[in-house]
Amino acid sequence: MRPETIAVHVGNEADPATGAVAPPIHLTTTFRHGPSGERVAGYEYQREGNPTNDRLREALAALEGGEEALTFASGMASMTTLLESLPNGARVLFPDDCYSGLRMLFREFLPERGIVADIVDMSDLAAVRAACAQPIAMLWIETPSNPRMKISDIAALADIGHAAGALVVADNTFATPLLQRPLALGADITMHSTTKYFGGHSDVLGGALAFARNDEFAARVAHRLHVTGAVLAPFNAWLTLRGCRSLGARMAMHCANARKVAEFLASHPKVERVNWPGLPSHPGHDVAAKQMRDFGGMMSVEVRGGREAALAVAGKLRVFTNATSLGGCESLVEHRASVEGPQPFSPQNLLRVSVGLEDAEDLIADLAQALI
Ligand SMILES: *Cc1c(COP(=O)(O)O)cnc(C)c1O
Repeated sequence: MRPETIAVHVGNEADPATGAVAPPIHLTTTFRHGPSGERVAGYEYQREGNPTNDRLREALAALEGGEEALTFASGMASMTTLLESLPNGARVLFPDDCYSGLRMLFREFLPERGIVADIVDMSDLAAVRAACAQPIAMLWIETPSNPRMKISDIAALADIGHAAGALVVADNTFATPLLQRPLALGADITMHSTTKYFGGHSDVLGGALAFARNDEFAARVAHRLHVTGAVLAPFNAWLTLRGCRSLGARMAMHCANARKVAEFLASHPKVERVNWPGLPSHPGHDVAAKQMRDFGGMMSVEVRGGREAALAVAGKLRVFTNATSLGGCESLVEHRASVEGPQPFSPQNLLRVSVGLEDAEDLIADLAQALI
């Protein structure tokens, strides 16, 4: 089955008890068992697993082409649980451009555990090879990356990482498995903030990991999740599963709209640079074309005239909403440097754009009036 069909069907099978076509939701925290703990249908306590979550896990594993998937309360909970499963003193290679929460994790929290974070430009394979001269436990890929939309070559990085003895992890949030399947390219684990495109309606937080192999490491992460408890609530699993069914259609429209918006912005005299991997001028375009089915709905724009000019554009937009996050139906814009704390990482003239599902011409008209 192709990804669009998997997204509609896997985990969404009719309820065997009632024939209900839309999946039931099981909110129960506990499951009846026998006097000496014999489980009736494999379940015991919600934190240890529940049927609604299992449907979503099945969908995620199938979409990513993995043997196992786990769901978490948020994308950050999935990252934290994964990274905490590494031994003390482990060395991890992280990308220089990445989700801000990951940066906080490796700057503020991983050092407490003695985990050594090395930061490299993952689009520069020679730099990654040099960083792999010493043993590494994990190599972390984010492509396209947030917010500069850098592209890194998953297959090449998986080879380099494996040669250095590392587990290779890809944050696949921006692309989704509809556009990019890192496990098929050699990665061991993919990570998602399902809060974004999977949920798709800006109304449900969640995270996920999909594992190429259901091995001892996957079991260790699952055990840590079930004991430490950053689990996804059944209602949130149900909403995310509902998002899966329209993911294919939504991604197609996000991509088509993004193409029109990117082409408009790239031709505008007030725009210095558009970071969208579908543009042939993007430095990662060829690699993106090789490993992605389409280029996604995320982009960033560098406005001519610096911080003030960028803020003025963000302030004039009417169809785009100024807000953080991404992947919902509504188009969002955010001046990242304003929300990154005292030492912003993003250029001051950069606006991150999540292109939504409105009519592309309305989005372009809004950008046109804001760029005047
Ligand atoms: C949002 C996001 C995360 C974090 O996920 P939460 O669900 O907000 O915890 C991680 N990676 C990327 C690329 C994201 O966009």
